[in-house]
Amino acid sequence: MNTKAALFLLAVTLLPLMALSTVHAAEFQQSAQGVQMIPDQAVTQASSKTFTGTVHHQSLFKTTADTTYTGSYVTFAPGARTYWHTHPGGQRMIVVKGTCWTQVEGGPKTIAHTGDTIWCPAGVKHWHGASPDGEMTHLVLTEMRNGKNVTWMEPVTDEQYFSN
Ligand code: MN
Repeated sequence: MNTKAALFLLAVTLLPLMALSTVHAAEFQQSAQGVQMIPDQAVTQASSKTFTGTVHHQSLFKTTADTTYTGSYVTFAPGARTYWHTHPGGQRMIVVKGTCWTQVEGGPKTIAHTGDTIWCPAGVKHWHGASPDGEMTHLVLTEMRNGKNVTWMEPVTDEQYFSN
């Protein structure tokens, strides 16, 4: 093989590879990831104007240019619960620790265990919290609509909390 033929072969082999790596670089730019480090995920105590008992909230992520939901861990002390409320775009709850008590207005109380998931549709009045005998943590994915993901209402009374 002479030098010209060898160079030609080299070019034919390398050019597609170079083109491929350019495509990969472009894809990487488009799919750049955003990491929210743990120090930015401050744990705060939830307001007594919207929760009964001791509740801690940890924001994991906010909405992005492409997504319309937020993610948070919410941890309830035994007996603690939300006030009654609705979500304008619904809410997914994933019980990650303990037992979750939840109820839709006019419906029975539902008990969900670690690993169970709950979907609350948009506009449905409900509450959620821990059982009386143990702490409960759930991961909540809540849809944001027009800059809002919850409408708070009145407290859940002890009678409502302990009802069936
Ligand atoms: Mn909710």
